[in-house]
Amino acid sequence: MKVLIIEDDENIVESLALSLRMRWPDVVVSSTGMGEEGLQLVETFSPDIVILDLGLPDINGFEVLRQVRLFSDVPIIILSVLGDEDDIVRGLEMDADDYIVKPFKKMEFLARVKSLVRRKNVPVDLTVYERGSYKVFLSLHHLYYNENKVTLTKSECLIFYKLIQNANSVVTYSSIARELWGDDYPGSIEAIRVYVQRLRKKIETVTGNNAVIETKSNVGYIFNLQE
Ligand code: CA
Repeated sequence: MKVLIIEDDENIVESLALSLRMRWPDVVVSSTGMGEEGLQLVETFSPDIVILDLGLPDINGFEVLRQVRLFSDVPIIILSVLGDEDDIVRGLEMDADDYIVKPFKKMEFLARVKSLVRRKNVPVDLTVYERGSYKVFLSLHHLYYNENKVTLTKSECLIFYKLIQNANSVVTYSSIARELWGDDYPGSIEAIRVYVQRLRKKIETVTGNNAVIETKSNVGYIFNLQE
């Protein structure tokens, strides 16, 4: 497993690297305190997961995230500081896969790394899924409603796929969490809410309907589909 840490606080880098090595002795860790170099390393080092601090000295973490997502689906965990909930929401909207608030517990950090690295991907033989008036290209994250197209993020696409496969029945938060982060994940309903809110808006742009994804309070969601 290869882990890239983009973080300018050397103490945090050291403690993260140490935790990773104790848990996975074969792990290869690369790190940088600069956003630009981090971007290059995503390409050249091709990590299995990226740990990304939002406050960096050259370009900020959001810019790194935006640029990485132009060419890579690598799982990204953003590091945020306590009290900056807006940053977390913005990061998730930009398709970060998860977040950790500093200071954090090592066990929590390791659990999140593990679940993202093990996440099952969309089967290669199933790249297009069609149902009703919807057609979704799973590897490209392109969603069509009749002839109208919108591009989803990877997380939005995974959620859309889960919801439409189970259209007109309730999909629970925990089953969405499993889809996004794997089986033994502690779960983050807040992150799911951010992704779904964004997804709902995108679906509205192609369908003109903002009630396609209906919220079932404290349970999950229903995808309303007429077939
Ligand atoms: Ca920083």
